[in-house]
Amino acid sequence: MNYDIIIIGAGPGGIFSAYELSCLRPDLKIAVFEAGHALEKRRCPIDGDKIKSCIGCKSCSIMSGFGGAGAFSDGKYNITNDFGGTLYEYIGKKRALDLMKYVDEINMRFGGEGTKLYSTAGTGFKTECIRNDLHLLDASVRHLGTDINYVVLGNIYDYLKDKVEFFFDTPVRSVTADGDGDSYTVNCDSGSYTCEKCIISVGRSGSKWMEKVCRDLGISTKSNRVDIGVRVELPAVVFAHITDELYESKIVYRTETYGDKVRTFCMNPKGAVVNENTNGIITVNGHSYEDPAKQTENTNFALLVAKHFSEPFKDSNGYGESIARLSNMLGGGVIVQRFGDLIRGQRSTPGRIEESFVTPTLAATPGDLSLVLPKRILDGIIEMIYALDKVAPGTANDDTLLYGVEVKFYNMEVEVNENLESSYKGLYIIGDGSGITHSLSHASASGVHVARNIAN
Ligand SMILES: Cc1cc2nc3c(=O)[nH]c(=O)nc-3n(C[C@H](O)[C@H](O)[C@H](O)COP(=O)(O)OP(=O)(O)OC[C@H]3O[C@@H](n4cnc5c(N)ncnc54)[C@H](O)[C@@H]3O)c2cc1C
Repeated sequence: MNYDIIIIGAGPGGIFSAYELSCLRPDLKIAVFEAGHALEKRRCPIDGDKIKSCIGCKSCSIMSGFGGAGAFSDGKYNITNDFGGTLYEYIGKKRALDLMKYVDEINMRFGGEGTKLYSTAGTGFKTECIRNDLHLLDASVRHLGTDINYVVLGNIYDYLKDKVEFFFDTPVRSVTADGDGDSYTVNCDSGSYTCEKCIISVGRSGSKWMEKVCRDLGISTKSNRVDIGVRVELPAVVFAHITDELYESKIVYRTETYGDKVRTFCMNPKGAVVNENTNGIITVNGHSYEDPAKQTENTNFALLVAKHFSEPFKDSNGYGESIARLSNMLGGGVIVQRFGDLIRGQRSTPGRIEESFVTPTLAATPGDLSLVLPKRILDGIIEMIYALDKVAPGTANDDTLLYGVEVKFYNMEVEVNENLESSYKGLYIIGDGSGITHSLSHASASGVHVARNIAN
């Protein structure tokens, strides 16, 4: 064997499994293979000046490299079973929460101390929401911020680099099981490496690759959902009474027209809207900094509608991709529209955006989102904006900006047991790549869980 354990992917799932294994079993020989760059080499070329939009780098620095998709994220660690994944269905609610708290402790030890932990518990806002038919989900939220998140990752890497062998810019092409899972061979362009146990943690960017591995090895998967919507940007004061107390609030609303659930997602007080590149398709996301000097005057958050498909259609991600492609076709990337323009059935033009009282933080193409989003989804988003206006007056102002499209792709859910081990003994599938988690805290917790099982 070249290694006792090979971890594929250096996102939060891979990093936390490497960390926990190196603590519990320093005798084991561990390697991490990562398709993207080392942390200090990760740089998105979009500077808003010379390069305004995605140029399709071979390895996207936003999604790949040490730190995974989370490296330049807002670093919001939601400690909850209410959203962010269904890890608790495999390992139980208490254990899942305990692991998320443990991850938080590690983050604090590696540079996150002093950052704020927000909580929805006992807030008056919950009551105000329910009075307006809005439902606030329970969570504690550690906000590291993009800047501190980066510092924490750098410190964890410094701790790990002498204990674990890292291979950066090394995408794994395939994994083969030798015997019935006695060992595994990990095949890269530079060669093949054997190991006794293999942890796959390839996140969303590795979703297509993960599907192929499951197909090749005959591991069962089931189709999942896709969330489609827009990113809303408005003056920070509109949501200040909520974000000052809670930072991130996950609010769910059931539409009167269709009974669909619309939810807020990834709230970034005084943050910035950014592009996201998933398999060459440009969608929108957001983040914010802990450092007041880097903050903006706007708050942004996503409004998403979940679409689940039943027979005969299985390709929920393909559906989301097609809608995102449509916005890319019309706008050359992300489209931005004033809420007032959308309601009046007119496209936003550069002139109308210029005159707006809200200055966009992302250079997107002014356009018409009603030409992109299916009516049912758009109607739900409009209803939700009016519902939110009751608890945060100003949300439905004409100048509120809507960026589209925001899509949350979910990986196919891979069949694993309570140890997150596949039908092959010693082959573990964790993090967002497993379809079980979709957040920093859940993905990290899944890494610790698997490491502890292996160590035992
Ligand atoms: C802009 C942005 C902001 C976000 N903000 C938040 C937030 O504030 N809070 C939150 O909870 N979540 C947030 N998320 C989601 C969060 O980042 C993910 O849920 C989390 O990173 C998942 O961790 P993971 O380890 O499962 O996968 P990832 O972080 O996606 O890491 C997987 C790694 O595997 C590598 N890989 C893929 N295929 C291969 C291969 N074949 N060989 C080798 N390596 C491979 C990839 O390069 C990647 O580095 C955000 C995501 C984005 C994109």
